[in-house]
Amino acid sequence: MPELPEVETVKRGLTKLIVGKKIIDVTFDWPKSFPNTEADVKGFLLNSSVNNIARRGKVLLIKLDSLYTLVIHLKMTGQLVYVGDERFGAGHPSDNMITKLPDKSTRVIFTFSEKDRLFFNDQRKFGWVRLIPTSQVKSIDLFKKLGPEPLSKIFTFERFSERLEHRKNSSIKSVLLDQTVIAGIGNIYADESLWLAKIHPESKVSELTNAKRKLLYLAIREILNSAIKAKGSTDRNYRDAEGRRGSYLKTAKVFRREGLNCPRCSHSISKIKVAGRGTHICNFCQRKPKKGMK
Ligand SMILES: [Zn+2]
Repeated sequence: MPELPEVETVKRGLTKLIVGKKIIDVTFDWPKSFPNTEADVKGFLLNSSVNNIARRGKVLLIKLDSLYTLVIHLKMTGQLVYVGDERFGAGHPSDNMITKLPDKSTRVIFTFSEKDRLFFNDQRKFGWVRLIPTSQVKSIDLFKKLGPEPLSKIFTFERFSERLEHRKNSSIKSVLLDQTVIAGIGNIYADESLWLAKIHPESKVSELTNAKRKLLYLAIREILNSAIKAKGSTDRNYRDAEGRRGSYLKTAKVFRREGLNCPRCSHSISKIKVAGRGTHICNFCQRKPKKGMK
């Protein structure tokens, strides 16, 4: 699933390509991918122009001058591919990024007035595109309980620490993955942040000293910022909004590197299961806290 840096990369790329453009047509082949009424589509999508594009957590928000917003959740296999004078794809990595579209994974097609098109492809059909009044976006279920943006100015160390306090008995990895605690972090960036902060993912929140929490807070921001700088990460043939491959995974230190050497201490990286997810760690750098340690 694309995480914060990948969706941020989509946002930045699309902003260059579709802001100011008018949507003149929309088609879809799977109602759950586009659960909107015909009246809303006619009244607030068609002939509306894109004002700006935002991101909240892992969700993309295309704001229209009709005062409605297209809320797009890529989920597991969603991707957006723009085909116009230039072409780009972003999201789930697959050949649809570069092959002829539409194809059997195409769920929604937006056509702009210049006849350029934006394809929402989603093989597994978990993703969706919803048209919602902009004023109501904040209060949809998905956002109501969503935690703060880890890169925002208001996300201070104090705020992070305070949020951890509510989950004292949980493993730190499960807390990082919990979108109600912090928005936008998934498996890749949880593993990378914990490695950078030298924290074992099974550590309980209550076992982390204040100094460790501070290291983790700084690590999360550093990892996310460098991933955005690297244009988002992805498997295989991920391409960012400008058609270049996301390069972050090439610089990942532990994620999907089991059996290879830890770049910090040269011990072998292993893969374990934490919070039901494949988790990559260096057992030497990321020691489990001893019982009773505070
Ligand atoms: Zn190590």
